[in-house]
Amino acid sequence: MQRIELPECPTCGNTVELFCKETRWAGTAQIRCVGHHHIGMGYSPGGEQGARAELFRRWQELTELETQGKNNG
Ligand SMILES: [Zn+2]
Repeated sequence: MQRIELPECPTCGNTVELFCKETRWAGTAQIRCVGHHHIGMGYSPGGEQGARAELFRRWQELTELETQGKNNG
């Protein structure tokens, strides 16, 4: 299994948690830092890799927004 390096929470700096749950009909993927940020999405069965990549991308955007907010005071 491929080892993926998880990003960090822009608020507290902890490594985020990534969950993927797949049933026969649909999958649910979630990336989160408890109490700070949470992004979830659904995906088609077999699409876990794509879902993970999408969540990573969204987390990256979220991190950039958070960082900008801090810089602006
Ligand atoms: Zn956090």
